[in-house]
Amino acid sequence: MIRAILTIDDIASKNTPSIVDYLNEKNIPALMFAWGENLEKNYDNAIYALQHGMIVGNHSYTHPSFSKLTMDEASKEIEKNETVLDKLYKDAGVERKYRPFRFPYGDKGGANKEALQKYLKENGFDKLDDRQLPYAWWKDHGLDKDIDTYWTFDFAEYNIRKGSGFTMEDVIKRMDDPAPMYGAALYAEGASHILLLHAHDETEELVPEYYKLFLDRMLEKGVVFEAPRFI
Ligand SMILES: [Zn+2]
Repeated sequence: MIRAILTIDDIASKNTPSIVDYLNEKNIPALMFAWGENLEKNYDNAIYALQHGMIVGNHSYTHPSFSKLTMDEASKEIEKNETVLDKLYKDAGVERKYRPFRFPYGDKGGANKEALQKYLKENGFDKLDDRQLPYAWWKDHGLDKDIDTYWTFDFAEYNIRKGSGFTMEDVIKRMDDPAPMYGAALYAEGASHILLLHAHDETEELVPEYYKLFLDRMLEKGVVFEAPRFI
């Protein structure tokens, strides 16, 4: 059996409600990560996600590279978005049970890495339950100890841009690759994943409903999508 927890970054976007509707139709739970400026632009769409069963976590306020920030700037980025998220949950009428966090670009803060993990721990952020992941490299990199939510498979569909030369076919190739350079093979027997997908209107414009193309393929292969749990 192949298991997966779906995470979707960079909400809120114009395509957020369509993604939410599709996930609900297919019974795929998801953990969505929102950044503050995007939230403020498409606030109602983030409300829609919450009211339709999605968990929304913190992905900073302006989506910076954390290794370029001082510790003070970094904590302000996180706290400013916490304020937006608290209001969002309140306005949606949904109880905020969990506070997961994801670093933009997976950049854990360079020299401030340890200080940031300590900060997340001491400020009540929740760690996604990763105890089912079977990968030695996950532990070798200390990812089992980190509080922020990292991933084991990146669709990389955000690279589909005009002139980038990266296409849907490249995403499919990544999905079918039995020995990827980074992360874990998507369909390895006994695999258990944290999947990284994005809610980008730019991708939607070039490949309408791109997320269906990936997730339908995974459903066909019998991948079981599990609800995120926290420890
Ligand atoms: Zn992001």
